Amino acid sequence: MSAAAAPTANTGLLRAKCDPYGAESRIRLLGGVFPENHVGKTMWHCPNYSDGRYRAECALGHRAGNIMPLCYPHVRSLQFRQMGLCPRCAWPQEAINLNSWIEQNQQAFMAALRVGDRESADRFLGRVTAMTDRMTELWQSGVIRKTPLTLAEVS
Ligand SMILES: [Zn+2]
Ligand SMILES: [Zn+2]
Repeated sequence: MSAAAAPTANTGLLRAKCDPYGAESRIRLLGGVFPENHVGKTMWHCPNYSDGRYRAECALGHRAGNIMPLCYPHVRSLQFRQMGLCPRCAWPQEAINLNSWIEQNQQAFMAALRVGDRESADRFLGRVTAMTDRMTELWQSGVIRKTPLTLAEVS
């Protein structure tokens, strides 16, 4: 009988298994901030117990994704790799709205072209251009920010 197989008497949260990819829970790294192909096809399990609970945060304190129990080797490897950009910094509400209006007007533009309505097509294209310019302004004025996510320990 191995002592490692002893049941739960002194296993609190900190003795959870390291779960960097949510292999067991099927929760993806950073709660879906990463596209599926970053995780890879092979789901695997880390054999270590976790040394702490961590979550991705940006420098402004936005939290992203789920709390992950991690072992120190995984903490180190995740700290030094690109964890992606903070979605809340990259997508303030105005940018989300603009993005969907741009899409709607692009579709209206295509639809107008299909029926040969040049006048409407020009109008929709003008809106797309204006909104794309506004999006560029949001970048340049720092409303849209590229803020990297880093691991933060959850106490
Ligand atoms: Zn691990
Ligand atoms: Zn942020």
